[in-house]
Amino acid sequence: MDSQKRVDASQQLLTEPETGIQYLLDYRDVIHPRLEFKTGTLQIILPRTYQNEKHTLEKYQRWIRRKENIIKKALEEAKTTNIDLQRTEKDLKHLIQKLAIDYQKELGVNIKRILFRKMKTKWASYSPNGNLTINTLTKYLPESTIQYILYHEITHAVERKHNYRFWQIVARKFPDWQTKEKNLLSHWFLIQKEF
Ligand SMILES: [Zn+2]
Repeated sequence: MDSQKRVDASQQLLTEPETGIQYLLDYRDVIHPRLEFKTGTLQIILPRTYQNEKHTLEKYQRWIRRKENIIKKALEEAKTTNIDLQRTEKDLKHLIQKLAIDYQKELGVNIKRILFRKMKTKWASYSPNGNLTINTLTKYLPESTIQYILYHEITHAVERKHNYRFWQIVARKFPDWQTKEKNLLSHWFLIQKEF
């Protein structure tokens, strides 16, 4: 998974008057405009040579609408999914460390280090040098979901890409991985909005 710059807290939420589309705007050293929904809010990143965002908003309007709808649905579904407010960060670390021992054995791999930090764009990540990073916001998730995230990441030590082989391995332990992925998306937008 890719690294992302954080959304600057000073950035103002803008509204396109005709369509009502809300977005954050940023100019960076990029060649092409970039549109992201990582935190549930549209973020437009424009090359510094661009005058304004008008053309980009027009061009990508349908894509933006489609994304907005997916997030809206995810948030509605999230209302019925539960958030765990009892688990502390210490509890989370214990749980992950314990599970990681089992999963490494099961998958026959070794994780060098497990790091914990709050992340804005993903639940967890595995770097090819053997480090695993877990988003501390996972503490709000049900235990079965945390298990899934961890198993998914440790599977990346076997297979880096999300290809057929990867999902085959994941499916051995989590036949319902597709539902798990969908729930993770719902939880993601909910937790991004709440915390
Ligand atoms: Zn993955």
